Amino acid sequence: MHVPDGIRLVVFAPHPDDEALAAAGLMQRVLERNGRVCVVYVTNGDGYAEGVRLKLKKTHASRDDFIEYGRRRQEEAVHALCELGLDPGDAVFLGFPDDGIDDLWGRYWSKIRPYTSPYTRFDRPLRKSSDSRWVKYVGVDLTEEMERTLKSFVPDWVVLPDPRDFHPDHSATGVFVLDALKNLNQDGNLSFAGIQVFTYLVHYRDYPHSRTWANEINTTGVGGSPSAARVLSSTQWLNLPLTASELDGKERSLMAHQSQHVILGGFIQQFLHPCELFGRLDSAQVMLVPQEYAAHTKRPSS
Ligand SMILES: [Zn+2]
Repeated sequence: MHVPDGIRLVVFAPHPDDEALAAAGLMQRVLERNGRVCVVYVTNGDGYAEGVRLKLKKTHASRDDFIEYGRRRQEEAVHALCELGLDPGDAVFLGFPDDGIDDLWGRYWSKIRPYTSPYTRFDRPLRKSSDSRWVKYVGVDLTEEMERTLKSFVPDWVVLPDPRDFHPDHSATGVFVLDALKNLNQDGNLSFAGIQVFTYLVHYRDYPHSRTWANEINTTGVGGSPSAARVLSSTQWLNLPLTASELDGKERSLMAHQSQHVILGGFIQQFLHPCELFGRLDSAQVMLVPQEYAAHTKRPSS
């Protein structure tokens, strides 16, 4: 995988730590080559019940505990990005519901009925900027927020969770980003001639522990369903070998996600590989995957 000079890279992360697991090396390489990096966190990771309970050492976590846990993970994410050479301003926190992204794609697509997080009890992002005042936990708003971010950053490379990832927040985030790219293209706001789209896996069988994933990924569809399996099967996987210094940076960045290290240390360790893997999607795949998944899930049109 060749990283050209001066590119603008945007990385979409369903939860704080996914950006570092998947692309800490790539982000450092882009910065080293005088490029720009923006990381978009779709959720603050505030719905991780096991994490909250372990941190607080109690069996029942309150609404405030979950909100505080998300706030802490947000701070850790900023610290983790600084370890890679990014600035706090390079992070965008959309504040959508952890553990609810796939629900927004389906039942909670339209503005009529927003999703309410069973953890924080929020039905909209906790943000105060004027342009996000009317944003709710609904699919149309998440797509629009992603479109707005993409339009203002104008990326050359877009990195997103692979739609075949088995974690529902990950696969749904992947499809949402592809849907946003498709809409921007259809509205004439983005040309595929100028951008490259790459995916990454985090939760897929025993990835990255062994090569089993490589034998099975080509017959897997969105979130492990049959949807779009054929379209995605032609994905080309590219390898980015990391330097020793990039691997050190990746380790520091992962360690900065302290709350996750306590519970997922062994899993996180497996991603300290001397290479990162990315699946390259062509423009036809970007257009077809959200379309096929919308038909598969019988998603309402507005
Ligand atoms: Zn995640």
